[in-house]
Amino acid sequence: MKAINPYTGKVCGTYPRHNQNDLAQIIGKVDSAFQSWRNSGFEQRSGLMLRLGELLLSKKEWLSVLISSEMGKLKREAIAEVEKCAWVCRYYAENAEQFLANEPVDIEARKAFVSYQPLGTVLAVMPWNFPFWQVFRFLAPALMAGNTGLLKHASNVPGCALAIEQMVEEAGFPANVFRTILVAGAELKPIIEDPRVKAVTLTGSTPAGKAVAATAGAVLKKTVLELGGSDPYIILDDAQIPEAARLCASARLLNAGQSCIGAKRFIVLDRVYEAFLEQFLNEMKAARFGDPLDEETLLAPMARLDLRDELHQQVQKSVQQGARLLCGGYIPEGEAAFYPATVLADVKAGMPAYDEELFGPVAALFRVKTEEEAIALANDTVFGLGAAVFTSDHEKGLKLAEKGLDAGCVFINDFVKSDPRLPFGGIKQSGYGRELSLVGIREFVNVKTVVLK
Ligand code: NAP
Repeated sequence: MKAINPYTGKVCGTYPRHNQNDLAQIIGKVDSAFQSWRNSGFEQRSGLMLRLGELLLSKKEWLSVLISSEMGKLKREAIAEVEKCAWVCRYYAENAEQFLANEPVDIEARKAFVSYQPLGTVLAVMPWNFPFWQVFRFLAPALMAGNTGLLKHASNVPGCALAIEQMVEEAGFPANVFRTILVAGAELKPIIEDPRVKAVTLTGSTPAGKAVAATAGAVLKKTVLELGGSDPYIILDDAQIPEAARLCASARLLNAGQSCIGAKRFIVLDRVYEAFLEQFLNEMKAARFGDPLDEETLLAPMARLDLRDELHQQVQKSVQQGARLLCGGYIPEGEAAFYPATVLADVKAGMPAYDEELFGPVAALFRVKTEEEAIALANDTVFGLGAAVFTSDHEKGLKLAEKGLDAGCVFINDFVKSDPRLPFGGIKQSGYGRELSLVGIREFVNVKTVVLK
């Protein structure tokens, strides 16, 4: 497997793929490790998880360069990502025991309780965009619950995949509690079907989620799916426009626009449209791309040339169908997978910028006359991951968030972000199940009822 630095265009690492024999051995070892790990106590698991968090922090400089070299993100964003992974390790080290404690139930019996038991080996199919965070938000709760993990990471970040395996080992976890397999997505069917693999979690695109869920469904294995999104950000006419424009541009450009919960569609009320547009455009135009390791760079390259070219096609097709290009929208010269911050206005149904996920630094703008129109437009998508509302009327914002918007998470006057303390996930084609918080750690456990007559 080759890792290619999307800034230089050069190969930055080559790793041998695992063959059928290797895979059978690894799965066997992870399954055996489960038999003892399931009986480890919370004290032992917490101690190891805390150590893993500390190890991440002590190596964040090295890890951030590794992340940036494989998928291009800004070094400072990579450091923040590693720090967030340390946070999720700490969070579950401190809370897992309480989240999974037996719960007595008062019925006509001597004793009755609900117990949360681990399932076994869980396969995690992960994307490249947050190559550490996506893995750790699965890894920390899964291991704390007593499960073991098998990581199939995206093919363009094999160095990150192996570094995570190595960190778990270095933190002192028993051998084979968490292993990486270097295989392509297309090779996963027999692994999902393997009786020693008990469940699957996938973070990635909607087509990948459907393929994995179909295989898992055929052998009745539980799945959690964290898939694509096209998050709407609604700017009402009582919003603080300068702050809203600044937050919206940051939310669009974070990680070079390659975030599932990136702000993708901006729905602006008529009365404030021009004011919002002017400031939003200024913010977007100011985002110059450059070397991701340079502290001054504002916009990183995208993760791969093919992904950049695909995004450009979506932009071009939308423009051919009548969308207005306000900035960006071209392929820069050179080896790097850069795409400029791009803004499209007059976007209509039937255009890729309306119907599809734009996984890069491209914003689609919509001008609407009423709040009702804004909500209807926001919900007119196959996705349902995050959403945001900007308004000075907090009560109205809360009402729209709770009852109006079809999404797994809605933020008011801020951009959508994941937090270990809050459930995270989507509805519709954005997937099902939740990660993080108490809800996330209970996804891969056997909720067992025990009754003593
Ligand atoms: P992707 O192409 O779907 O890949 C994700 C993972 O799935 C990779 O490990 C990939 O392996 C594997 N895969 C792809 N097709 C597969 C198949 N048919 N069967 C089995 N496995 C398959 O997605 P990506 O390009 O890495 O990430 C971008 C997508 O992820 C976007 O749509 C984004 O919105 C979504 N995402 C969602 C969340 C969330 O929390 N909801 C978070 C981050 C990203 P290979 O690399 O070997 O193909």
